[in-house]
Amino acid sequence: MTGRKRQALLAALPAAVVAHGGRQHHARQNPSGSTTSYTFSLAATNPTAVPLSAINSLQPSSATKALHSTAVAGSVPTFISGAPPLPAITALRAADYPDPDKPAPTDSPEVKRWIQEVKDTGVVIPDLSLNVAAPATGPICTAPENAAAAANSTARCWWTCGGCTRASDIADCPTKLDWGLTFDDGPAPYTPNLMEYLDEKQIKATFFVVGSRVFYNWQTLQSQYMGQHQIAIHTWSHYALTTLTNEQIIAELGWSKKIIKDVLGVTPNMMRPPYGDIDDRVRAISLAMGLTPVMWTRLGPNSAFNTNDFDIHSGTVTVDQALSGWKSVLDKANTIDTGFIALEHDIWQQTVEVATGYILPDALAHQPAFKIQPVVNCLARTMSDAYVETNNNATNPPVFKQAVDAGVVKVSGKPKDTSPAVSAQSAAGGILSLAGLMLGGLLAMP
Ligand SMILES: [Zn+2]
Repeated sequence: MTGRKRQALLAALPAAVVAHGGRQHHARQNPSGSTTSYTFSLAATNPTAVPLSAINSLQPSSATKALHSTAVAGSVPTFISGAPPLPAITALRAADYPDPDKPAPTDSPEVKRWIQEVKDTGVVIPDLSLNVAAPATGPICTAPENAAAAANSTARCWWTCGGCTRASDIADCPTKLDWGLTFDDGPAPYTPNLMEYLDEKQIKATFFVVGSRVFYNWQTLQSQYMGQHQIAIHTWSHYALTTLTNEQIIAELGWSKKIIKDVLGVTPNMMRPPYGDIDDRVRAISLAMGLTPVMWTRLGPNSAFNTNDFDIHSGTVTVDQALSGWKSVLDKANTIDTGFIALEHDIWQQTVEVATGYILPDALAHQPAFKIQPVVNCLARTMSDAYVETNNNATNPPVFKQAVDAGVVKVSGKPKDTSPAVSAQSAAGGILSLAGLMLGGLLAMP
């Protein structure tokens, strides 16, 4: 990675994530101050783990690893029925995509087309006020600027403020002890370090990737995909979506869909909003664009399955707090009747070191055993169902149809007629084929 590219990537990184869970434990300093003891105990750790005492915001950068398996252009992912060959790419052209790290312009031909495609679904986008946030931190429920939205958070189903979800959101795995393993915010320099461990242990995960960062790390994305991990969307620039206009949200999701399709040949049908920041307006747009929102499990306003690993890098969370957060996740996982989805990241050296050195070894040693898998698999679907082009529409109806059937979104007017040829070729196939379903009378129109 060149210095310029690294600079651009790092500039893309949010400075902090809103902490959704309460802190559980703090490290204890012994009287000499020389040794830190921890309030948690782990069933197992990785023998080659970076020592806990060395994982902090000030640690020097450790070595990044090369991808140990490089995806070959033109190879066909045989584990996905009907998948096209991997696109042959020598380089992505910056001129073909918006600038990194900020919301894309909404007047480009591409975004105008996606806006029209959303309109063509007939989706009714709730008219909700935009929340306010510093771009890097996500909107805060208690901020005075958001008081009206917070007071109305249940009606608008604003997850950030209380944890509301709709029937179309995925927030857990249905089966007890199933863990939908997710990593957000990559692909990034330390992602290959994580992938090496996952491969060694034969663990598959869901990666919610940021479009801007795919641009700089597209080889990593191809390797993740060909390694049978699930690829899903985490927006173009990692801004909090409830703070953006409808058109900006469409651009955030549309450009992410496009760059992933350009790199992999397929388009994901799941998304995770940055900071978990979603309300019914964001939800309607996501669903109309063929994207199912995937959250992380949350049992109450202050009981999210969040390891808080992200903030070790900034120094606002210590490694002990993060691992205590993990033990809290385990405690909750043991008590609930369903499986779970927990929040982790592959963006920083620290998050990868904590995952590969401690969290995953501990999880693998857990008794009774967890079934660790990508989110799509914990929903009893195949990896083919993770992508618009390969999804089996008979067994797994398109996302927007499911949402309409569940009453989560409403449609009005007559969706525009779209020819099947256009549907088959469009990266927004989920939308257009849905319009086809509507026209075919399969969807009840209000
Ligand atoms: Zn994120």
